[in-house]
Amino acid sequence: MFLAMKSIKDLSWHSLSVAETVKSIETDPEKGLSSQEVDKRHAQFGANSITQKKGTSALVLFLLQFNQPLVYILLVAGLVTGILQEWVDSAVIFGVVLANAIIGFVQEAKAVKAIESLSKSMKSEATVVRGGRKQRIDARDLTIGDVVHLQSGDKVAADLRLLSIRELQVNESALTGESLPVVKKESDLDSNTVLADRSTMAYTSTLVTYGTASGVVVAIGNETQIGRINQMISSADLLATPLTKKIAKFSSIMLYVILALSLVAFVVGLLRGNGLVEMFMTVVALAVGAIPEGLPAALTITLAIGVSKMAQRHAIVRKLPAVETLGSTTVICTDKTGTLTQNEMTVQQLVVGKELIDVSGIGYSFEGELSLQGASVSIDKNVALRECLSAGLLCNDSNLHKVGEAWKVEGDPTEVAMISVAHKAGLIKHDLTSQFARLDAIPFESQHQYMASLHSQPQDSERVIYLKGSVESVFERCTTMLLASGENAPFDRDYHHGLVTELAGKGLRVLAFAKGLVPASKTAIAHEDVSDGLTLLGLQAMIDPPREEAIQAVAVCKKAGVAVKMITGDHELTALAVARMVGLLEAPLKSEADYEANFEDNDKVPLVLNGKTIAGLSDHQLIEQVAHVSVFARVAPEDKLRLVRALQARGNVVAMTGDGVNDAPSLRQANVGIAMGITGTDVAKETADIVLADDNFASIEAAVEEGRAVYDNLVKFITWTLPTNFGEGLVILAAVLAGVSLPILPVQILWINMTTAVLLGLMLAFEPREKGIMSRKPRASNEPLLTPVLVSFIVSVGVIFGAGVFISYNFLLGAGRSQEAARTLAVNIFVFGEIFFLFNCRSLRTSFIRVNFFSNPKLLIGTAVMIALQLGYTYLPFMQTAFGSEGLQAFDWLIVAAVGVFTFVAIEVQKVIANRITK
Ligand code: ADP
Ligand code: MG
Repeated sequence: MFLAMKSIKDLSWHSLSVAETVKSIETDPEKGLSSQEVDKRHAQFGANSITQKKGTSALVLFLLQFNQPLVYILLVAGLVTGILQEWVDSAVIFGVVLANAIIGFVQEAKAVKAIESLSKSMKSEATVVRGGRKQRIDARDLTIGDVVHLQSGDKVAADLRLLSIRELQVNESALTGESLPVVKKESDLDSNTVLADRSTMAYTSTLVTYGTASGVVVAIGNETQIGRINQMISSADLLATPLTKKIAKFSSIMLYVILALSLVAFVVGLLRGNGLVEMFMTVVALAVGAIPEGLPAALTITLAIGVSKMAQRHAIVRKLPAVETLGSTTVICTDKTGTLTQNEMTVQQLVVGKELIDVSGIGYSFEGELSLQGASVSIDKNVALRECLSAGLLCNDSNLHKVGEAWKVEGDPTEVAMISVAHKAGLIKHDLTSQFARLDAIPFESQHQYMASLHSQPQDSERVIYLKGSVESVFERCTTMLLASGENAPFDRDYHHGLVTELAGKGLRVLAFAKGLVPASKTAIAHEDVSDGLTLLGLQAMIDPPREEAIQAVAVCKKAGVAVKMITGDHELTALAVARMVGLLEAPLKSEADYEANFEDNDKVPLVLNGKTIAGLSDHQLIEQVAHVSVFARVAPEDKLRLVRALQARGNVVAMTGDGVNDAPSLRQANVGIAMGITGTDVAKETADIVLADDNFASIEAAVEEGRAVYDNLVKFITWTLPTNFGEGLVILAAVLAGVSLPILPVQILWINMTTAVLLGLMLAFEPREKGIMSRKPRASNEPLLTPVLVSFIVSVGVIFGAGVFISYNFLLGAGRSQEAARTLAVNIFVFGEIFFLFNCRSLRTSFIRVNFFSNPKLLIGTAVMIALQLGYTYLPFMQTAFGSEGLQAFDWLIVAAVGVFTFVAIEVQKVIANRITK
């Protein structure tokens, strides 16, 4: 029987030694748990998942719905009417407030849930050793006693007692609030050491920012430190975006305006000799009419729809403001490898000694030939070739298997390409790794640009270090080079440089390979051990074809006024060639000399800036140059941060991709940080606003498109909703000033506002994106929500509604019709006017003719239901009792239609004029 859970919980692991830990948890620090043991422990301890504690209770969330300035007015209005014993009015007003709160509450809860489940759907994984085999598993399957490997970029998936530590640094801000990374090391700790000082432990949800380590799982799920203090994120923060904040501010301004107008109306009315009660009711009508009740709910719903549309197009939104910001993006800074290209590397050429060897075969496969000027070559006769390919296999953390007909790739495609080419020459990774056991390794990090590994040799007392990396980083470490014969010659830098220029110029990714010998006493390696005196083994040049979709997406971005900049760690020439393939650069280089000249002539703007050049530029110079350059090569993560800042200093809204730990600062700095869902580290995903499910540049472009559509739809709703409120306010003010009876009563106003908001306005959230959406320039980030054109729409429609209602109402009264009939006409003018205007608002830019009438079925259904309801309002007896309505005559309907058509035409004409002026 395994240890009782209770006794495990009580241990203070940080103060136990490694040996004690391993013993009490009954695991093997090298081989991990056996699979039977894992099953047993799964049964005993359950899954490694944290049950979400409820943060704010549902009741509080519901009550928060009432905490809006405009709702206060309604509540006061309901109260006043209650005191005046206008029971129906009072009940309707409270009913509306309640209905509004329920809709808001439900929608908000739904939106929050959708966003939360999106971020949860990003599965987190962990690397464990089980039964002696290293494997990636779903983090939820971790159990007590599992041996976990950590590397920089990982999010720790369970509480670990660290077993072996290699320069491990962990950011524990999720747990302790401390934002600087802490260094982990083995030490004797007291059992009462505080959490932040427990250097022998790594806790769930903290992020590895540097180094590697292994550790044994001592707590999972709710028993972890974070599980004990876990709190739900506040939903209010989750749903706030710049726009919702802007609108909240707008609402409070409106509150004062409404209060002021009400006061004026009240005083004017009293001076005219109207009764107190009547004036109270008038003021209530004014307040109720002027408030756009449906606005907050419509915003949330539109944003939520945007989030789900983006998810369908592989962009997972983690932070809601990104939905909006994407729409105004002016620059996209994107990685090259995997984002613009397929990240399916195939070695096409090798340079060994003084020979250029061609490799046939494409994609991941073991089929292909190595040939030298048409004649096949063998590793038996070419020592340099054998060594160069061996280095690629041994200094390699990836795997390539054939599963049925398909190739299964594990790890980095760059490394997988080396496995494939070696196999074509007859070298098998598995054979080699068992012959030359790996003793230690320095993992690849993009700022160092190389990886090294230390191996024992079967018959030799000396040990060997293999190194692979960018040509720059490897060349500077080499003094000799290996020839085909097996002899060493002095390293010929110029010769190799020329070859690299040729290979990279074709868009190939070129890696260099080297080796060094060290005494048998060596058991570990550090950067100092490979700083000098190595022997160059050769080069491997691989092709990584561009993604077809990326080429199209780049073209779309260009048309849409969104600049695309490639930021890569790869060689300048490779970057340039790929940039040309995807259409980022048009003019082909005339000659290599041309390219070199770009760097020497200070007046000319270079085509490409590399990391070194960027480091040499002042901030001011960088801001100058950054706009004109589209390709940035050999860029280190620190340079990325400067690039984002420089672009922002020019007023750009910047979207930036990233995958590594060191990309986190630039992802945070960018207006929209985008992490790679497949190749990205947990750290990058955690910091990003958006995660790309497929790592594809085309998905970024799609997200921008959807971002524009969401913003469009929000503006459409606002433009559509405000004129009604404006018109209602006008009618009532006019009535007070003219000293006539109210053309519409508070309950009737609420009827109009509520039914049309839900059945008409909300449907604008489902408008598909407009056809020309990617042929406009990006919206300026300082552009007001309502442009002058839209203000003109709102004012003119408001005035048409107001005047139309006021005049028709008094006309009907003058013609001897009942007040009920006249008011029913007023309500119908508003509702049908809104229906006509709704069809204007399907596009605020182009004529209604250019909008596909059937493209938004929800809007058509909503309209049909609204018309039916309105007929019911007018003719059904019980509705007539509730709202004081009365049946209309044919002539009345003509008036309704006339106002509607007039509105519609007035707006379409304004669109034409506006387009003339701006063109
Ligand atoms: P990018 O992803 O933008 O192409 P990286 O930062 O991944 O750039 O790589 C930069 C350079 O480092 C590459 O051009 C290559 O020469 C080298 N490199 C890439 N991957 C590896 C690796 N796994 N091991 C060694 N060197 C690598
Ligand atoms: Mg890379």
